This record gives sequence, structure tokens and C-alpha cells, in this order.
Amino acid sequence: MTDNAVATRGLPDRAQVVIVGGGVIGVSIAYHLTKLGWTDVVVLEQSQLTSGTTWHAAGLVVSGGMTTDTLAWMAKYSRDLFEVLEEETGLSTGFRPVGYLQTASTPERAHKLAREADFLRLMGIEREPVSPSEVAAMWPQLDASAVVGGYFTANEGRADPANVAMSLAKGARMGGARIIEGVRVTGIDRRDRRVSGVITDQGSIEAEYVVNAAGMWARELGAMAGVSVPLQACEHAYLISEPFDGVSPDLPIFEDPDRFAYYREEVGGLMIGLFEPVSAPWSLDEIPDGFSFGEITSDWDRLAPFLEFAMEILPDLENVGIRKLFTGPESFTPDNGFLIGEAPELENFFIAAGMNSLGILTGGGVGSIIANWIVDGIPPVDVTDIDPARLHPFQTSRSYRAERSVELLGRLHSTGVVAAQQPQDSTGTSADRRFITDSRLRVRTSSSHPAGRTSVGSARMASSTSPSSRTPARTGSICTPPSMMRFATASHSSTYQRCQSSWSRAVVPRQHSTGLQATTWLFRSANVCTRSSWTKVASSSQI
Ligand SMILES: Cc1cc2nc3c(=O)[nH]c(=O)nc-3n(C[C@H](O)[C@H](O)[C@H](O)COP(=O)(O)OP(=O)(O)OC[C@H]3O[C@@H](n4cnc5c(N)ncnc54)[C@H](O)[C@@H]3O)c2cc1C
Repeated sequence: MTDNAVATRGLPDRAQVVIVGGGVIGVSIAYHLTKLGWTDVVVLEQSQLTSGTTWHAAGLVVSGGMTTDTLAWMAKYSRDLFEVLEEETGLSTGFRPVGYLQTASTPERAHKLAREADFLRLMGIEREPVSPSEVAAMWPQLDASAVVGGYFTANEGRADPANVAMSLAKGARMGGARIIEGVRVTGIDRRDRRVSGVITDQGSIEAEYVVNAAGMWARELGAMAGVSVPLQACEHAYLISEPFDGVSPDLPIFEDPDRFAYYREEVGGLMIGLFEPVSAPWSLDEIPDGFSFGEITSDWDRLAPFLEFAMEILPDLENVGIRKLFTGPESFTPDNGFLIGEAPELENFFIAAGMNSLGILTGGGVGSIIANWIVDGIPPVDVTDIDPARLHPFQTSRSYRAERSVELLGRLHSTGVVAAQQPQDSTGTSADRRFITDSRLRVRTSSSHPAGRTSVGSARMASSTSPSSRTPARTGSICTPPSMMRFATASHSSTYQRCQSSWSRAVVPRQHSTGLQATTWLFRSANVCTRSSWTKVASSSQI
């Protein structure tokens, strides 16, 4: 039992809200519910608080990649909360505004950063342009000769992820929530179309609302409730060097997205975190039992080329020893968007998962959105890009996750333009592809495609120009990425077509969605896909 957790043993028979998961997201939701006056709140954690993903995060509290108003709001709100939370709880989050420096080494990146800075300024986040010489002055260790420009956000920085969660947990407890460790949820109770409680390894709790904040376990927890939660744990790594000359704790966070890396000080050395373009899904079938404060064996062979690439800009790193290459799991979703909101298949069952490596820096905001949504019955922000209903149930299938998850880390740093120079993947494929999976599918479609020797290129042409019964067409205003069409063609066209036709019929009404189960109700009123038939599609798509 952790010192700062609530040491309450023994389960209540009922609670207004049961939150499953004691990571930063679960405790943040509990904290915010109590702030809104809802105190009959129970957080259940199967092991110890923070023991899933939260404990080993790098702790960047920055606004990189916050390209929608909802994301930007979450990052800004969280940063501001972490700065002052100690005044309320007495526990520091470790937040330090050391500054956040991003560089561009290509014109495409410079354009992307400029667009992002303009947008964030509108959202109240001040990001100033800096010249290559200013970059070199801020980070003298860099070889800035390839840098064409950059941006600096002065009031962002880093926090201690475990302390962020512990401080929120303490605030939740002070507000009346109960946090119970060592209790595993093994089932979800439902009455008709509404959630009615949880079953645990130590008894059941009746509940009006249940929140799935189970991190990388959220897909499995969702399945217990017949709810599709399309996310996959992927390996996510950072290297920690021995002490490095001139590196101090006040060094700004430095992000070099053209080399897929971020850097910060760590005990006098450097932490180099990777968002490599060919990543590795981890544990496709289920998260191993007892995975608590766990670590994945680092795959040096896969990561070394990316590390070398990242070190191009920091030549002196070659002369410094490596203390540790750490790899941990983190959940990623098919479109790199969060899964936040009420499940389309089950009323009062909320999902707060799929954080795509941004769960600490947005954790305060996620908690606030879910808490307000539950209490008010309506989402407090635009939920277009976070609503779980936007994704398809077939995206939970093992084959989809196995094929597509390799793209998800690298896409977070994508400019939308295929880089002129990219590290090769293990099959030697590099710049001539749109998606990493192309090469794999090319092998597969040329050797075993049921329709014969269709090449990837010809499948793409076919899908956009002459829809056939094998190739789902673009219907209405739905725009399906070509690679998704190819994947559907190759692997599971009938399931895909069922989903596709349902979604295409509902796409126009969704433009006016409030996020309030609108998709489901519109499906129902259009007599296209009711909540129960939607669930049926979900279960028949396990391919
Ligand atoms: C190497 C690395 C670096 C990262 N760096 C950053 C960073 O710099 N900034 C940032 O914002 N994010 C970062 N992240 C991402 C961040 O760590 C996660 O997004 C965040 O911790 C997710 O929090 P969570 O609460 O959703 O999940 P978790 O912390 O995993 O919490 C989920 C909890 O649910 C519990 N649980 C699961 N199933 C059950 C069940 N059936 N019953 C009861 N309990 C259950 C688990 O035990 C777990 O404790 C990083 C991640 C990695 C891997």
C-alpha cells in the first residue's frame, strides 16, 4: 500500500461512481468529481497507485502536438493545475517551468510548427519563434547547423508523474473519495442498456456510473462490458545517459521531431525519449497477469538506429556512457486521438483511456472533462476528436492492431509529408512508402490475397475509382484512408463493409452531434444501427 493512498480496505456495497484504475487519469477524475460536490466516489486499483504506466513517464508537461482546441485546453489546464496543486494538497507535483524548445530541420516542419504556434496563441499558450543561433544559445550542446528555426514556450516544462498522481489522489481523498488498492475488477454488471456496477475479486459494488480508466488494460475491461475500446499497448522507450557536461536541471525540454526524439535533464545526464516511426506493439493478446511497476526488455536492435539518428544533433553523446535504456508500455489508438466519453454501447459507462503518451500532460484536463460530463450530463468541450464513438469496433481486432500499431508512435511527430530521409524499417523499406505497413501488405497481397495478385498500388487505385463488392467505396462524406481500404480488402471486407455502411448513413447527422450518445441515437432513429446491433457488429469483428 502506498503511503499517500487512502488505506481504506473493504468494499462498499454501492457507490455513485466507480472508477477502475489508479493511474493519473483515474485519480484525476476522482479529484474533479469531488470538486463538483460528488463525494460518493470509489477508485479501484488492482495493484498500487501509479503502478501501470504512470510511474515511469518522462514527465514532459508541454503543449507539442496540441492541434485542437480540446487538446490545447487540456494541456493548458493541466499545466496550470500542476503548478498550484501543492497549495491545496500539500504534496508537490514536481512541476518546474524550465521551458520547452522545439526545432525544425526541414521547411515542412518549420511550417507545421508555425501553424501550431499560431493556433496555440489563440488558445492562450504563448509560443515564441527562435532563430538557429538562439537555439544554440539555449542548448550549447547541440550541433544546430541543420536547424532552420524553432519555437520556445517559456512557462512549460516537466513534472514528476508519480507525484502528480499522488497529489491528485490526496486531493480526491480530501474531497471525500475512497481509493482502494489491491482490488481487481473482473466483470461489469449491466441492467438492460445501462451499467449497474462492477464485479471484483473481492465482491461486487453497485454503481450508477462506471469509468474505465484502466490504461492499457482498458480494451480488456471494455470487452467485459461489451464495449469496444480500440487501443493497443506499444513499446515506448527512453535512454538515460551518464552525466553530461553542461547539463543542468534548468535546461529546457528540447524536442527534435525531425529526429523522432525529445531530450531533458535526468540526474545530471540526458534523457532521450523516442517516437520512432516503426514502433512495436506489445502483448497483443492481453497484458500479462501481475504486470505492476513493470518494464519491457529493451530491443536494442530495433532502437539503436533511431538512437543514432537522434544523436546526430548531439555529437558529444557518443562520448558519454549509457546508464539505462528503459522501455515501458503505453496505449495508442488507431488515429492517435484520445478515447474520452460515454461508451456508445452502454449508458453511464465512461471511457478515459488511449492517451498516446500524453496522459500526464493532459491528465488534469481529462479528469475535468469526464467529471463535468458525468455531473452535467453533457460534455463541457467539443468532443469531436476524443469521442470513442468515432472509431470502429473492428479496430479492436488483433489483426488490425498487429498491422497498424507500428505506425502510431511516429505519426505523433509526422508533418504529413513523407520525410526525404527516414531510418529504414527491419525489411529495408524507407522513404518510398506512405505507411510502414505498405511493405508488409505488399508482401501479403502479392502472395496470398484472395483476389489474386493485386498489388497495393492497384488496390489503392481500385478503391478510389471503381468500388466493387470487394472494395468498400467512399460513401457520402466519409473519407476512408486508402491504407485502411486496402487493409479491409485484404483481411476482413465483410465486417468492414457492415460498419462502413452504418457509418456512412450516419455521417451527416453526426456533423450536428453534441457528443451525447448522439451517434447511437441517430443510428437508432435512422433505423440503421441500434445500440444492440452495434454491439453485435463489435463482437462479430473479432478476426
Ligand atoms: C516511456 C514513457 C514515457 C512517457 N512520457 C510521458 C510524458 O513525458 N508526458 C506525458 O504526458 N505522458 C507520458 N507518457 C504516457 C503516460 O505515462 C500515460 O499516458 C499515463 O500514465 C496514462 O495514465 P492512465 O491512468 O491512463 O494509465 P495507468 O497509469 O496505466 O493506470 C491504469 C491503472 O488501471 C489499473 N487497472 C487496470 N485494470 C484494472 C482492473 N481490472 N481492476 C482494477 N484496476 C485495474 C492498472 O493497474 C493501472 O494502475 C509516457 C509513457 C511511457 C511509456
